[in-house]
Amino acid sequence: MRLLWLRNDLRLEDNAGWQHLADYRGQTAAVFILPAHWRTTDEYGLHRLGAARSAYLQQALTDLSARLAPFALTLLQGDPAELLLAWHERQPFELVTHAAQAPEEAGWLTRLHDAGVLLHTFEAQPLFAPQQVAPLCERFPASFTGFRQQVEKKPAWPVPAPQPAVDLGRLRAATCPLTSGIGWPKWPGEPVHPAWHGGETAAQGWLTHYLFERRALSHYKASRNELTGRYFSSHLSAALAWGCLSPRTVWHQILAYEQHWGSDEHSYWLRFELLWREYFHWSLRVHDRQLFAAGGLTGRAVTGEFNAAYWQAWCNARTGWPMIDAGLKELMATGFCSNRLRQNLASCLIHELGLDWRLGARFFERYLVDFDVASNWGNWAYIAGTGHDPCQGRRFNPHRQWRQYDPGLIHLHQWLPELGPVTLEQVESHQRGEQLLDYPAPLVPLA
Ligand SMILES: Cc1cc2nc3c(=O)[nH]c(=O)nc-3n(C[C@H](O)[C@H](O)[C@H](O)COP(=O)(O)OP(=O)(O)OC[C@H]3O[C@@H](n4cnc5c(N)ncnc54)[C@H](O)[C@@H]3O)c2cc1C
Repeated sequence: MRLLWLRNDLRLEDNAGWQHLADYRGQTAAVFILPAHWRTTDEYGLHRLGAARSAYLQQALTDLSARLAPFALTLLQGDPAELLLAWHERQPFELVTHAAQAPEEAGWLTRLHDAGVLLHTFEAQPLFAPQQVAPLCERFPASFTGFRQQVEKKPAWPVPAPQPAVDLGRLRAATCPLTSGIGWPKWPGEPVHPAWHGGETAAQGWLTHYLFERRALSHYKASRNELTGRYFSSHLSAALAWGCLSPRTVWHQILAYEQHWGSDEHSYWLRFELLWREYFHWSLRVHDRQLFAAGGLTGRAVTGEFNAAYWQAWCNARTGWPMIDAGLKELMATGFCSNRLRQNLASCLIHELGLDWRLGARFFERYLVDFDVASNWGNWAYIAGTGHDPCQGRRFNPHRQWRQYDPGLIHLHQWLPELGPVTLEQVESHQRGEQLLDYPAPLVPLA
């Protein structure tokens, strides 16, 4: 028997896993396992499956099951390696799964391999084929620019074409000998943005709408730093993080858009951002556990006390900086906030509050609908100065940022309506420590 273990490759198209099953003459099955420890809360009040992530995942699995029918997708919850070994004991199989992106997954695969399970791995997350990237990984570029220049060199590295879905009618289904099912947390309701409706069907619909119906790519570079709105950026991150779309599909759809309407700085820039994702992805493969250490890739010793009051205020979105609290509220309510906000949130947690950047990364991991281990930890490390930033960290000035990106305080009013009709100047004064507003004083006055 051959078993396909899906993790964050929840799609039929451009997923080599299904080809592995279709090529096999014997019985086949497919499984998704929700790691039980994702739902365990630690001493910082953090776990790994916030409401938005959980809803997206549940919808993505429902959609995939419907697309697969009558072939069944088995759903399990528990320790992935333990469950797979229990299954293997009762019904031996060859395991097909995509290559590990992060150490946790690598650990599961090692346990399975060491217990005698035959593994077939393939790539499902990156744009480039491993053989294209191999020479770069040997001496991994210290900066994104170094990586991008290699990739964009003439002749450019081609992005392999996405593979169409295989004919599932050829599969001979096996049944799972374990009791299956996942106990989902409470459903938080319909997502406020169509791109956060989980699943391949919704993701394909959104991609077509964004690129070809709305043609929102025509202003991408100019609008991508905005804080609010449906079309300011592509909102493709959740679909990419859960693998409802492959990055190759998105890339080739951008090329199709360019063929139709011509390429410009906007279409180039969306591909540029996909290269950032790619950079962080391969960086994690190369640096592995080092990324998660306090000193990150720098190996620097990092000291600092844990300030419980600051952490509590952060978790309750009550830092006393209205601009930051609005961003935290949006993140916690929807599972999303813009890249510009993420940068400012990270900068404030690290450089103003002096909290451990890894707590911030884990906080995002809990809430983000689009949590992606490489992009999230890579970006946090970048801002903390423990990652790939040649400037050794980024400290943002929120006052300057909001003057540039939300001068009308649209985002602030949307997420902190209790502030009433305040001006930018009043908010700035409050954040500097002059208690002008009927709002908690800032934990630390912003210089
Ligand atoms: C502190 C911090 C944490 C982040 N955590 C995540 C995360 O967990 N998951 C995630 O997908 N992105 C993360 N990002 C990157 C970025 O903020 C999001 O990808 C983006 O905001 C998602 O919205 P979008 O799809 O509309 O992006 P767009 O601007 O439309 O970009 C298109 C795609 O390119 C990729 N991309 C864009 N910017 C980045 C970037 N800086 N790094 C890596 N990939 C990028 C994403 O896949 C994104 O969907 C983080 C950024 C910061 C500063």
